[in-house]
Amino acid sequence: MIKGIAASPGIVIGKVLTKKEQRIALKPTSIVNCSNEVKLFKKALKKAKEQVKELYNLSLNKMGKEEAQIFEAHLMILDDPEFFKKVKQEITSENLSAAAALEKVATIIIHAFENMDNEYMRERAADIRDITGRLAKILAGVETKEFAVLAEDVIIAAKELTPSDTAQMDKGKVIGFIAETGGRTSHSAIMARTLEIPAVVGATGIMAALKDGDTVVFDGSEGIIHLNPPEEIVLQYKRRKEEQVRFKSKLSELIGARSISKDGVSVELAANIGTPEDVEGVLENDGEGIGLFRSEFLYMGRDNLPGEEEQFEAYKDVLKKMAGKPVVIRTLDIGGDKELSYLNLPVEVNPFLGYRAIRICLDRKDIFQTQLRALLRASVFGNLKIMFPMISSIEELREAKGILAETKQLLKNEDIEFSANIEVGIMIEIPSVAIISDLFAKEVDFFSIGTNDLIQYTTAVDRMNEKVSYLYSHFHPALLRLVKQVIESGHQEGIWVGMCGEAAGDEKLIPVLLGMGLDEFSMSAGAVLKARWIINNVSKAEMAALVDEILNLPTALDVERFIEENIAVSCCV
Ligand code: PEP
Ligand code: MG
Repeated sequence: MIKGIAASPGIVIGKVLTKKEQRIALKPTSIVNCSNEVKLFKKALKKAKEQVKELYNLSLNKMGKEEAQIFEAHLMILDDPEFFKKVKQEITSENLSAAAALEKVATIIIHAFENMDNEYMRERAADIRDITGRLAKILAGVETKEFAVLAEDVIIAAKELTPSDTAQMDKGKVIGFIAETGGRTSHSAIMARTLEIPAVVGATGIMAALKDGDTVVFDGSEGIIHLNPPEEIVLQYKRRKEEQVRFKSKLSELIGARSISKDGVSVELAANIGTPEDVEGVLENDGEGIGLFRSEFLYMGRDNLPGEEEQFEAYKDVLKKMAGKPVVIRTLDIGGDKELSYLNLPVEVNPFLGYRAIRICLDRKDIFQTQLRALLRASVFGNLKIMFPMISSIEELREAKGILAETKQLLKNEDIEFSANIEVGIMIEIPSVAIISDLFAKEVDFFSIGTNDLIQYTTAVDRMNEKVSYLYSHFHPALLRLVKQVIESGHQEGIWVGMCGEAAGDEKLIPVLLGMGLDEFSMSAGAVLKARWIINNVSKAEMAALVDEILNLPTALDVERFIEENIAVSCCV
């Protein structure tokens, strides 16, 4: 049994096919004809571009725009003049063969990415390895297509699965993925989730333990891989798989149903999005609204700030597609782990405690007002609610609201229309705000609890640091007490309280949050129907009766066990 990272849910039982690491023989490093090597490298770039364009079209047809974008990024690397210049320089000044020069440059770039602080950027090292590996194979005259035609169903196991491997695989035959490296945000994990192929990544030691034809059993939502297991384990997983298949088809019957508890209490099950394209998934999964639009994604992956017009179009698009359902758009939440290189923000020792989110917006009123103007103008196209992130004091909230009022006045002066009743709320991500949430409740229209940050600030556990991740839990009694306090403070003042941190979609926690009185749950779109099923199968009054007992349990583990034993078992499959 090997434990990896749960990357894409679903149970698989099958035979393994391992990805062979092709050793590429490098030409002698010292060469005589440099210009010939430069020509060879140029030819390899051209061929690689043709191959990647083919993969782009393949994934666009089979998976969609988001996955195809990965290959757009690969094309950008191939087109990057700096990359070409560096390899050419190594060939001419060091007398290296094209392959050796490429290897040298690739190693430097990969190393730089692997050592970045940001987990997402670290994962991008795999993309550079993928594209430079492709170039190396072309230079060595090696065929790159693997797993394109398969005779039988297989689970692919690899040291590292590249997006190219994933895109060209015979989808009908690949029933699961296992990779020794990678995290939940690696591209192969993202693709596996989109293709709905169960996957476990980061399974250290798996390649040494496996050979072709071995039987493997795993559940992609657990991350545990069983190698050549005894018959009873296989049977146990077979039964669970049958249950899962039945349950999934049952869930689709809930499209259009109400999110109402057994004792008649309605809640809103909304979804989190990062881009307007994500709305499609929300509608497919019958999300009742958008509880968090992380607007900062509009600002990322580019080299300048998005203007008012561009933002207006994006917000309008989302509001129109949601056709009157509530859409909570969070104003720019940059800083911490989300960087904007073109803002030239200084490197900080404690970025999560530093110059970020609303703090930047209050300081850079120009940026903030551009966004607010775009939001206000878009408001007439749907049911917009504006949310400020990382508020830590009443003064900040008042200042942000002041700028919003000023922006409204400016639009009025210009005879530009905007909705009269836009609700304004805050994210509750900082303990200081949760503790005086009774005072905040008098000044806003809603709260949305951001547990991702609230956990890290309450327990002093960096949410990005794998070394301390064992301390990071949304079952921590301190977090749950704060959540209850925030819900009560909100209700005392008659405002609604939602949650858009990951905890809102946790199937074990949903009944407890319902019992505490949470009004809106915002989660990844794929989790909405299961959440509806859970809500439909519990009674709010019964859950409420358990809350005090749960809040008096001393550890996160005790809380989780209590839920498993007293609630989850009876309501979840
Ligand atoms: C949160 O902190 O819970 C949250 C939803 O915001 P983000 O994950 O974008 O920091
Ligand atoms: Mg946050």
